[in-house]
Amino acid sequence: MLDKEWYARYKRISSLNIRSSIYDVTNRCNLRCKGCFFFSSDEDQAAPEEMATSAWEAFVDREKERGVNLAILIGGEPTLYMDRIDAFYKRLPTFCASNGQIKLPRDRFPDLMVGISLWGDEQDEKVLRGKDTFAVSSRNYAGDPYTYYLYTITPKQLGRIDRMVKKIKDVGLKVHLQLLSNDEEVDGFSWDEQQLRDVRAEMDALLDAYPETLISSKYYHEVITTGMMMGRRFGWLECPSVTEPMDTRNPQPKRLIRFIRWAADLKTMHRCCTSATRDCSTCKDGAAHMSWVMVNKKDHLKTADDLKNWIEVYEMFAKLYRFIPW
Ligand code: SF4
Ligand code: SF4
Repeated sequence: MLDKEWYARYKRISSLNIRSSIYDVTNRCNLRCKGCFFFSSDEDQAAPEEMATSAWEAFVDREKERGVNLAILIGGEPTLYMDRIDAFYKRLPTFCASNGQIKLPRDRFPDLMVGISLWGDEQDEKVLRGKDTFAVSSRNYAGDPYTYYLYTITPKQLGRIDRMVKKIKDVGLKVHLQLLSNDEEVDGFSWDEQQLRDVRAEMDALLDAYPETLISSKYYHEVITTGMMMGRRFGWLECPSVTEPMDTRNPQPKRLIRFIRWAADLKTMHRCCTSATRDCSTCKDGAAHMSWVMVNKKDHLKTADDLKNWIEVYEMFAKLYRFIPW
């Protein structure tokens, strides 16, 4: 079905067998963004934080034994607790989400992949996050080979997404695009159908214009903007990123094996990779949509084009979490 080049790409990723879980490193943050799923759903109050670094180290050892081979650190703001990051980094392939306001010391974490959150241009960021975070994060990480921006596009950005993409390119970094799920219903920041069609076209054009800067694929753009894959609609019944011990769905959809999202007490689990109070029918979580494609490989084996789409999404995920080079 595939020519030699695509088959080699397929072989490269098919052996990866990624088993991820997500960890709230802390309940604290140095920002308070409107629409942050963590604070808007009170997940910061779901459990107290484990304060002993030794307990974090023992916990990560247990996670490794459980079969986890990718630790995704979120929060709150993980960089407020470097020792906790270190407990993961020393033991497992680790990715750290950050707002980029505190620089991770590269002498301590030389190749830790960092995804910096960005919520639009300066105006949007001031409205939603209270400051122009890019001004600081781009100074902290310019030219860093293990850093990219996680650019959450809002409807207000339509027609001018390229401005920030160009700024990211100019500071020598890469970018992955995702869409805002307006959890706190900030006026003017919810998507309508026409806006979703428009943003898909804009994302496709950006990928053509900046193939070296964007870590993306057109199939990902299609799936995340339409919420559809192979005639099926994304939502609770399809979502792959549900914490396994809390997953009571029957029948079970294809899902991430052994996936758990842990709270910062290292005992409490959250329902899924994002907010437990989010309406799944409007969820635009990028990683959940990527994983949805990835776990449904069999459905992409009917035609060569379907399989290539699947390979591109898998490669994108593998690049974002440093399993393969950019
Ligand atoms: S920086 Fe991240 S964790 Fe902190 S408030 Fe904003 S979205 Fe939430
Ligand atoms: S909110 Fe999103 S990620 Fe969470 S279960 Fe629902 S669809 Fe999945």
